[in-house]
Amino acid sequence: MSEKIWLSSPHMSGNEMKYIDDAFRRNQVFPLGPNVTGLEEDIVKFTGAGHCTCLASGTSAIHLALILLGVKQGDEVICSSFTFSASANPIVYQGATPVFVDSEPATWNMSPALLEMAINDRISKGKKPAAIVLVHLYGMPARLDEIMAIANRYGIPLVEDAAESLGSTFEGKYTGTFGEIGILSFNGNKIITTSGGGALLSANPEHCRKALFLATQARDNAPHYQHSHIGYNYRMSNISAGIGRGQMEVLSDRVKKRRENHFFYWKQLSDIQGIVLQEEPDSRYFSNFWLTTILIDPEKTGGINREFLYDELGKENIETRPLWKPMHLQPVFADAPAYVDGTSEGLFKNGLCLPSSSNITDEARAFVVKTIRKLLKH
Ligand SMILES: *Cc1c(COP(=O)(O)O)cnc(C)c1O
Repeated sequence: MSEKIWLSSPHMSGNEMKYIDDAFRRNQVFPLGPNVTGLEEDIVKFTGAGHCTCLASGTSAIHLALILLGVKQGDEVICSSFTFSASANPIVYQGATPVFVDSEPATWNMSPALLEMAINDRISKGKKPAAIVLVHLYGMPARLDEIMAIANRYGIPLVEDAAESLGSTFEGKYTGTFGEIGILSFNGNKIITTSGGGALLSANPEHCRKALFLATQARDNAPHYQHSHIGYNYRMSNISAGIGRGQMEVLSDRVKKRRENHFFYWKQLSDIQGIVLQEEPDSRYFSNFWLTTILIDPEKTGGINREFLYDELGKENIETRPLWKPMHLQPVFADAPAYVDGTSEGLFKNGLCLPSSSNITDEARAFVVKTIRKLLKH
């Protein structure tokens, strides 16, 4: 196949330009504006989140979430270890220390047992965690019932990093709407995109109002630019939001297609010895399957491992990617406390993300399967 098959590429609906044209016609080429307000309304309507503030990125949304929850210098914040670094970096922006908690094998997300162990151990050391950053990786909802129960029992606020899980639900409720604050990302590789952007969700209107205030340089209500807080320039542009409005029109279709990709791969690959695909643990979990992921056990594939598949697929112009390298194994977080049992390390060692774009062609998808089966001698 000569044309590159991407891991997760942008997929426009065709209606984005309508919103962008509108902004140009009215000369609304600035941050804030009607497309931003419209996108916030679309997101609230889709997810059932009480309120939404659109921002420059998912990372800035996590940063503001921590500020809103009062995280400050010297605090500790619990964070899923198995994630992208953007979940943890804002903890450090605040001068706080991340405390990493490992995954459990069914959802690949934060282990409730290790979370509770971490909380008790930090409390015994005289430091009650100031917040928990919980990630729904690759779209799979975490064990929200147990995690919420623990967070509530200890009175620790939860930030849900739903950057990869827009459209996923647990017991019929959208991820990002369980915690005190939820965050979304509209980066170019996510299930929908604004070419770069994010959002902060909360049932509490005060959080969203304050997020907007901080994101617009924290200007007090005075004509002469008076400031009593340090502010940020974290607002989404009205042009980006126009892309987002066109994308929200097709979000349900995008979820449908990513799930269809996943079940296609499942049907075509799960008979192979040593290949395991992620599954929803039970009917309460509904994943958007942002990326379809496989685990390769070289002891069962006759020695064929993740590296080999990654290299060989790359030679065929098929983009794949190892699963996220856990944060507790990252050089930059080597000194951070971590409560781990090897689960995410094992996933990282054997896991590979397959091309999962919503605009992947049937031909390309079949070629990926054919190539994998050939490499594994099936
Ligand atoms: C993409 C991503 C983010 C960051 O979002 P940006 O919009 O790129 O800043 C945070 N957490 C996870 C798990 C992500 O995948």
